[in-house]
Amino acid sequence: MLVKRIVKPCLLGLRNVSGREQPLSVAVARLQHSQAEQTQPNRRSIRPETSSAKNLMDIGTRRIFNEDHDMFRQSVRRFYQEEVVPHHKEWEKAGQVSREVWEKAGEQGLLGLMVPEEHGGIGGDLFSAAITWEEQSYSNCSGPGFSLHSDIVMPYIINYGSKKQIDRFIPQMIAGKCISAIAMTEPGAGSDLQGVRTYAKRDGSDWILNGNKVFITNGWMSDLVVVVTVTNREAKTAAHGISLFLVEDGMKGFQKGRKLEKIGLKAQDTAELFFEDVRLPADALLGEPNKGFYYLMNELPQERLIVANMAISSCEFMFEETRNYVLQRKAFGKTIAHLQTVQHKLAELKTEICVGRAFLDNCLQLHAEKRLDSPTASMAKFWASDLQNRVATQCLQLHGGWGYMWEYPIAKAFVDARVQPIYGGSNEIMKELIARPIVSQK
Ligand SMILES: Cc1cc2nc3c(=O)[nH]c(=O)nc-3n(C[C@H](O)[C@H](O)[C@H](O)COP(=O)(O)OP(=O)(O)OC[C@H]3O[C@@H](n4cnc5c(N)ncnc54)[C@H](O)[C@@H]3O)c2cc1C
Repeated sequence: MLVKRIVKPCLLGLRNVSGREQPLSVAVARLQHSQAEQTQPNRRSIRPETSSAKNLMDIGTRRIFNEDHDMFRQSVRRFYQEEVVPHHKEWEKAGQVSREVWEKAGEQGLLGLMVPEEHGGIGGDLFSAAITWEEQSYSNCSGPGFSLHSDIVMPYIINYGSKKQIDRFIPQMIAGKCISAIAMTEPGAGSDLQGVRTYAKRDGSDWILNGNKVFITNGWMSDLVVVVTVTNREAKTAAHGISLFLVEDGMKGFQKGRKLEKIGLKAQDTAELFFEDVRLPADALLGEPNKGFYYLMNELPQERLIVANMAISSCEFMFEETRNYVLQRKAFGKTIAHLQTVQHKLAELKTEICVGRAFLDNCLQLHAEKRLDSPTASMAKFWASDLQNRVATQCLQLHGGWGYMWEYPIAKAFVDARVQPIYGGSNEIMKELIARPIVSQK
């Protein structure tokens, strides 16, 4: 399986630091050895941190990465420049990306990077997955819902699915032929997940599913949806009566509603889903019945880390975009970069972004060591997504009226930023999760 996945990607060449062309297959294969590299502190310590880099998106920086990661990053960057950026405008109009880009990402080994080898993946490390999140933010193209598919949905199937479920869905998901979504939110239940009303009733060994979901990323294109469902209305608390089901496109009674019109994330398909007497076989249940809430609590910190890391990466992108702009925009006979107020603003922005990056890299390191706790992930999500919105506002301001024009990348970055404090658990809920252990420790 591994061989199959890394032979085809050879189409993309890339240069390593010495300037030699390297096939993407080499980059992907070397990722498997990257974790061993992480244990060599000498190699890591000579890498500049973001604050000392010439450009906040420079390849070859940050001590959490090594040269194999750099090669991989170069190839992912090229993938976004060649396969995503040229099509994004058209996808924004369509409100969705193409199926082709999913399959291309699959062919090039960019989906399900962390899936272990025994399940058909390459067993890449968290840092490699983080590179795919970061490069998407650096491309300023929010359309493809790859990170949700690879690093939010796939872990549910890998961690709680049966062998049959894993064998059936994971290879197709890695190939980009089975697009996935996760449906928690309902019109009447978002922050309060225990308020979910979608209900599955036993019928012999089957289940009959009724209810509806809203705001589901990848929902319109989805082939497979993990649906959060009540299965025991009499449980001692709502959390004890929730299960997860794997619902497939085409099942009788499963309908997709309209693609929702959003103020940002224009190329991402966000949809309503309706379930009317959908008959689910016993093996559509993911894990054990009534354990769904527990599974969600286990997996949500990674979702929050992804939002946070993409938030800081977007800040890095917006900063560089704005730096370029002020260096060429003239007012009063000089570039606006000559103005001290502009310089101080850039100094403030860079400092805040680099402080955020340092915390995020620490969180990535902790998560790679399975030591990232839920309140810390919540701190990262809350702080980074709030920072992203502050940076977006300031960077747009520095662009003047042009920043308000869709043709300028900062305008898209600005509207895309707005949802980050809302989804993945709103930032108010993050503060609840951070506060709980603060007041209960003594
Ligand atoms: C573009 C987009 C994509 C999304 N993708 C998905 C997806 O793929 N899957 C999915 O399941 N969901 C998804 N969501 C839903 C998202 O997770 C919810 O919108 C979010 O959890 C908030 O829920 P809500 O919208 O019902 O707001 P509400 O829960 O109604 O909250 C409204 C306001 O009240 C505040 N609030 C609520 N409770 C508290 C409290 N206890 N203390 C303080 N303040 C509180 C909230 O912070 C918020 O400001 C997506 C949403 C958007 C906009």
